[in-house]
Amino acid sequence: KKKEWAKLKDEATVTEDGHHVELAANIGTPEDVDGVLDNGGEGIGLYRTEFLYMGKNQLPTEEEQFDAYSSVLKQMGDKPVVVRTLDIGGDKELDYLDLPDEMNPFLGYRAIRLCLERDDIFRTQLRALLRAGVYGNLKIMFPMIATLDEFRQAKAILMEEKDNLKSEGVDVAENFEVGMMVEIPATAVIARQFAKEVDFFSIGTNDLIQYTMAADRMNERVSYLYQPYNPAILNLVSNVIDAAHAEGKWAGMCGEMAGDEIAIPILLSLGLDEFSMSATSILPARTQLLGLSQEEMKGYKDELLSMGTADEVVAFVKEKAGLA
Ligand code: PEP
Ligand code: MG
Repeated sequence: KKKEWAKLKDEATVTEDGHHVELAANIGTPEDVDGVLDNGGEGIGLYRTEFLYMGKNQLPTEEEQFDAYSSVLKQMGDKPVVVRTLDIGGDKELDYLDLPDEMNPFLGYRAIRLCLERDDIFRTQLRALLRAGVYGNLKIMFPMIATLDEFRQAKAILMEEKDNLKSEGVDVAENFEVGMMVEIPATAVIARQFAKEVDFFSIGTNDLIQYTMAADRMNERVSYLYQPYNPAILNLVSNVIDAAHAEGKWAGMCGEMAGDEIAIPILLSLGLDEFSMSATSILPARTQLLGLSQEEMKGYKDELLSMGTADEVVAFVKEKAGLA
């Protein structure tokens, strides 16, 4: 099987009926890029920048960040690289920020919430990104957006730093896309309104599932409720993709679900444009997609979305996608 996969390393991901999707990878450090290219990644759909901030006792400098971001962008050449701004908090803590303990860290002060308040931290990261963007195909993505105001504020700060750098005579990226993670149900519900203002969506199912099902993604006792195939999740995902397309934007997914054998036919039926996963899942996913017909899967969309339980969805997909 490994040999069969390897042959597909440099192939585009085109379904049986000629529909192209993009298979990208999730990474955490510049050292991960080799693995992405070795496994035939067409881009990076999620660069988690938290690692730069973790395992040390102070914030990374603008230069340290510039080195990491530009290294990734250079290695990827003209392939797209979606860099997510700092998503700290929740399960990822930073001791040196000395934040108070919270009752519900996953519902608390984290990610964009922290960045908009501590905009000194945010601006340093954005400057590093804008400078690094000169070296490749940069796309910037904000995590944990809950409201349109947050997106607008984050984007305004980004554009301010771009102007600042330019007036300092520094080279910066010019035509880069600015998008957001859809991982809070509120944004999935009114994706139509967001789609007018973003360049793209990337659906973060790891969090979207926990928030939609009210089931902590780390808690074993409620893990039975953590259901990627629950029709509630599928309806939200579908709404996000349709909203993006109605505004001529693209929709990707960078949660674990994007690389899952049962989810892939479903996501194809819903029209997902970009699937971002761990590098080692790319060739198996490509192999699977080459054998699927998007037209056929699209024919199942309405039926899937009107099902009542995750079990029904799984049984149906296994049969239709030849996984039984
Ligand atoms: C997600 O929430 O699906 C996601 C990709 O982000 P993280 O796993 O880093 O929270
Ligand atoms: Mg998340």
